[in-house]
Formats: sequence, C-alpha cells, structure tokens
Amino acid sequence: MKLRAQVADVARHLHQRGWCANHDGNVTARLEPGASRYLATPTATSKRLVGDRDVIELDAKGQVVGQGRVFGEINLHLAVYERRPDVGCVVHAHPPSATAISASRTNPIERPFIAEAVVSLGPSVPRIPYAQPGEPARAALAPWCELVDAVLLGNHGVMAWGADPEQALLRLELVEHLARIAIAATALGGPEPLPDAAVAPLLAARAKANLGRAADRAVEIAARLTPTSPAPVVACAPAPHSPVPTIGPGGGGRDLAAIVREEIVAALRKG
Ligand SMILES: [Zn+2]
Repeated sequence: MKLRAQVADVARHLHQRGWCANHDGNVTARLEPGASRYLATPTATSKRLVGDRDVIELDAKGQVVGQGRVFGEINLHLAVYERRPDVGCVVHAHPPSATAISASRTNPIERPFIAEAVVSLGPSVPRIPYAQPGEPARAALAPWCELVDAVLLGNHGVMAWGADPEQALLRLELVEHLARIAIAATALGGPEPLPDAAVAPLLAARAKANLGRAADRAVEIAARLTPTSPAPVVACAPAPHSPVPTIGPGGGGRDLAAIVREEIVAALRKG
C-alpha cells in the first residue's frame, strides 16, 4: 500500500475504534527516510472521511505544499520527527481509557506491568503535564521524544510514533489496551509493576530487536518520572554501541545498577 493510502487507512481506523470524535486526532508520515517532508491528515475533517486524496503534503516547517490546510497540532508531530530520524510516522488520538488516565492525577501505566509491553513500548509510558496548545505543548513534549515511543499528553490524549504507520498505530493501540487493563486492575488495588530485575532483560530484548531507543535511555526516563512514583527502573546498561553513559544510583558496593547491567550483558550474550 502506498504511504498516502496508509495514512488515510490509519486515520479511518482511529475513528472505527472510537479513538477520536468530531475532528480529533491526526496522522503524519515522513515521505522518505531521512527527509523533512511529510504527509498529513487534513484539518477539520472527521477521520471517518479521510481518503487517499485528502491527505496533504507538508514541508519541513509544517507548511502545506500544494492544496489543503494543516491541523494545529502539527508542531507536536514535528517535535518528534526533528529529534527522531528513525521515526516514519506519528499518530495522535483521544482513545477513551488512555485519555482518562491523561486527565487523572495518577498514571497506572507509567511503570510496566505486562512483559510484552516493555518490549513494544519501553520502560515507561509517561504522562506529560498539561500544557497550552502551541509552543507550550511542543516544549513539554520535546524532551520526551528521544526517550520513549508513546506518551500521554496531559488532559489531552495519546501520541505514539514508530518506524512506519503500522508500528505507530500498534503502539497507540497498546497504550489504550494497557490503560483499559490498568483501570480494570484499579478496582483490585491497582496493577503491580514488574520487578526491576524482570524489566532489564526485556529492555535488552527490545534493544536487540532494534525496537526503539528507550532501552538506551532508561536512566534518563527514571530520572524524569514524577517524584511520587514508587521506585521506578533505576538503571540500565546501554545497548551495544550506544553513546549513552550508564549511570548508577550511587552508593558503595554492588548497587542495583551493577546488577541490572550484568543481567543485560548476560541476556545479550545468551541471545
Ligand atoms: Zn488532540
């Protein structure tokens, strides 16, 4: 399927799944690897009605090339593309369960509680505090673009990105699925996060499968998690050839960082 058709297909899928209402949601895709030209869904159009011909083309600054009007949240998409040359598609929607968490004081999907989700999404789905649309929202998102592959935009919705439209859509789908599970688990006392020792080998598997950069950046992610979070992942070895330094929590002796690092190295050797 051509990229234009894929963008339109993802847009209609967002509507079919009930993940956007009215004119909510938007999809963009990088026209070619490494290029700063994009395809995008048009503004003020229900995602139900987006066909191949409605998809517009944008330049590096998000200005329309040719016909059509771009949506106001394009700066959020560009924030991702500018920081992630590996990303080929960004999807934004308001799926009800994840959006409910985005509008709540606690984020039960911040720490992983299902193993498969760590491999697909990395060590965290952070909730970025609410920021006004425009430059404040872009500035709030920007520091996260290199750390994770999906975020909850505070009091707003979900944004996910990936190498292509399929991967970005699957990540958004998984965030909504996790949110539904977490909300169901809340009635039972809330989901119990995976132990740190279990997360480390999963991050190693993610790095090995080249599924994202988050495995490289677990330490930074941990540092940015809200202070109210109970014991986030505290350390992770970098993926092979990663320029990111490994930082431990400090203290003498064989600290947790060292243990996690050893586990990852062992997992990589095994594979
Ligand atoms: Zn939105």
